Amino acid sequence: METPLPTNFIRDIIDENIKNGKHGGRVHTRFPPEPNGYLHIGHAKAICISFGIASDYKGLCNLRYDDTNPEKEDVEYVDSIREDVRWLGFDWDDREFYASDYFDKIYHYAIELIKKGKAYVCDLSPDEIRKYRGTLTEPGKDSPYRNRSVDENLDLFERMRKGEFDEGLRVLRAKIDMASPNITMRDPAIYRIKKADHHRTGSKWCIYPMYDFTHCISDSIEGITHSLCTLEFENNRPLYDWVLDQLGIHHPQQIEFARLNLTHTILSKRKLLELVQKKLVDGWNDPRMPTISGFRRRGYTPSSIRTFCDKIGVAKFNSTIDMVVLENSIREELNKTVPRVMAVLNPLKVVITNYPEGETEEMEAVNNPEDPSQGLRKVPFSREIYIERDDFREVPPPKFFRLAPGKEVRLRYGYFIKCENVMKDPKTGEILELHCTHDPATRGGNNPPDGRKVKGTIHWVSAKHAMKAEVRLYDLLFTKKNPDDVEEGKTFLANLNPKSLEVISNAYLEPSLKAAKPRDWFQFERLGYFFVDPVASTPDKPIFNRIVTLRDTWEKIEKSQK
Ligand code: ATP
Ligand code: MG
Repeated sequence: METPLPTNFIRDIIDENIKNGKHGGRVHTRFPPEPNGYLHIGHAKAICISFGIASDYKGLCNLRYDDTNPEKEDVEYVDSIREDVRWLGFDWDDREFYASDYFDKIYHYAIELIKKGKAYVCDLSPDEIRKYRGTLTEPGKDSPYRNRSVDENLDLFERMRKGEFDEGLRVLRAKIDMASPNITMRDPAIYRIKKADHHRTGSKWCIYPMYDFTHCISDSIEGITHSLCTLEFENNRPLYDWVLDQLGIHHPQQIEFARLNLTHTILSKRKLLELVQKKLVDGWNDPRMPTISGFRRRGYTPSSIRTFCDKIGVAKFNSTIDMVVLENSIREELNKTVPRVMAVLNPLKVVITNYPEGETEEMEAVNNPEDPSQGLRKVPFSREIYIERDDFREVPPPKFFRLAPGKEVRLRYGYFIKCENVMKDPKTGEILELHCTHDPATRGGNNPPDGRKVKGTIHWVSAKHAMKAEVRLYDLLFTKKNPDDVEEGKTFLANLNPKSLEVISNAYLEPSLKAAKPRDWFQFERLGYFFVDPVASTPDKPIFNRIVTLRDTWEKIEKSQK
C-alpha cells in the first residue's frame, strides 16, 4: 500500500495547477544555492521541499548554483554543496547548472530591455542611488540619467562590458517605478561593474548581473515550473514577474515558504563564515556547526534530517523550532538501529575483594533490547572494574539508588555489588577507589533467589580489558535560544557557549569497541549516542563524538527488562 503524500499549501497549489493543465501538468523545481558557504540545516529544509515535491510528482529538480558574486564564491563551496545534497539522498542526474553558464544570455536580455526602453545606465554613485531611493514612507526620486536615449544606453552598457569604467561608476538599472510602494521595484540595479575573476568564467566578464535579474532568468531558461523559495523573497516576486513579462519568456511561478529557524544556533552563512574565519570552531564541518557537513561529522544520518524536515512541515509564517525536535529525530532512529555498549567517561576504580584475582568471566550482554535480531555479545568481568564517579556518593541524597557506603547496586549484566570500604588519599581526601563485595548468586545482574532487590543499575568496564579512547562531548554552540539576542554593542559571538566542547582523553570502553571503525554508531548505555568521527579519528585512535544524550533514562530500560 502506498503511503499518502503529505499535504501542505505548496502541494495544494501544484495539485490545482495540474488539474488546470498549467505548465502542461509538469512539475520542475530547482534548488538554487549561492556557492558562498557550506549548506546548513535550513538549506536541508529547502532541499527536502524542492527535491521531495519533484520526486513525489514524478517531476524533476535541478541543482543550480546562483553564482553571481565572484568575490565571495569558491569551488570549495561548489564541491561541498554537491556532496551535501547527494548525502541527503537526492539526485539531479545531469541537471547541474550554473547561473554563470547563462551570463551570455542574461547579457543579451539586458540589451533587449535597453532596446525596449526598459533599462538605463545610471551614473549616480552608490550613495546617491541610496538617497534617491526614498524610504518605506516616502517615494523615491527619478535619477537624472533615467531618460537617456536607447542608443546612449547601448553604447554605455557596451563600454561597461569592455571595462572602460571603474567599479561603482555606473550601473544598469531597470526602469520601473521610483514611486512604487515596494522599494525593490524602484529602478533596481540589474548589472554592475565588478573587476573580479569568477571561479567559472575567469576574466571573461567585468560586469556581472545582479542576483534578482539572474535568478528569475535562470529559472526561466531551465523551464522551471515552480520556484520554491523562502519568504524573504516575497518582495522580489513582483520584480521577477516584471522582468519575465517584459522579456516575454517562460514564466515560472514563485511560491514562498517560511525559512527554518532553530534555537541555540544561527543559520546565516555570513555568521557561520565568521565562526570559521575566527577559528572559533574547527571549520565548516565542526560537529557543533548547524551545517549539513557538521551534522554528518557529528553522526546524524541523512534519514534523521529528512524525518526532521518532514516533521516540521511547510508553512507560510516564520517560527523557531526547538533544537530538541532535531535531536529527537536522530535519537528515535538510533534507538532502534545501533548496538548498545558500556563505556565509562569519568572513571572510579572498584575492587571486588571477594572475586578471585586473575579470573575473567564472559558475561552475556544484549546488543539492542529494541531489536532482538541484533543478538548478544560477551563482555569480560574481572576483579577490578571502573564505574562512573557520579554513580557513587559518600553521602547519598534522598532517592539516590546507586552506590553508597554499605549500599548495594546492580552492575548491568554483571553482579550485585555492595560498597564495603571507601579508599581515600589521606592528604587530599580524594576518593581513590572503592572496595566492594559481589554476590555470586546474582550473576548476569539477575535478582538473587532470596528475592532481594536493588533499585539502581549502573554500567561498568573491566579495568584490565578496557580500551582507552578519546571521547568528545558536545553541548549547544550558543547559550541563548536566540544567539542574536545581545546587549547593544555586542554581536552574536557574545553568546557562544564556552563549554560547547568537552574532550575526555581517557575514557574506558568495553573491549568490543576495539573493532569500531570510523562512521560506526553506538549507544553508550546511559550516556548517549556516539559516532566514530570520520575526520579526526586515525586507524589506531578512534575518536567518539557524542551526537546526543539519551532522553530515555535508565528507568525506561529497567521497565523494559521487567
Ligand atoms: P545568503 O543569500 O545570505 O548567502 P542563503 O541562506 O539565502 O544565504 P542561498 O544559497 O541563497 O543562501 O540559499 C539557497 C536556498 O536555500 C534559497 O532558495 C533559500 O531560500 C533557501 N534557504 C536558505 N536558508 C534557509 C532556511 N533557513 N530555511 C529554509 N530555506 C532556506
Ligand atoms: Mg540567498
